[in-house]
Amino acid sequence: MNPLNSQQVRELIRVVDQTREVEITCSECRDAVGEYLERRLAGLPIDAALERVEHHFTLCPECREEFEALKKVLNATG
Ligand SMILES: [Zn+2]
Repeated sequence: MNPLNSQQVRELIRVVDQTREVEITCSECRDAVGEYLERRLAGLPIDAALERVEHHFTLCPECREEFEALKKVLNATG
């Protein structure tokens, strides 16, 4: 069994770090989805917290549907 070289170790740490950073709950996602959508529509930068919301949509179809529904409502009202 070969020991990991230093590059493999760094890669492993990077993956673990990303996993830890991006995990939010559905309730945290719902709390932030309004702000996330407003900033996206206004063309404002998305901060780290809102990037987690964005990532949550890739993991959670329920929250993504809620986001899409909200987006339609806001687009419809202009
Ligand atoms: Zn969710």
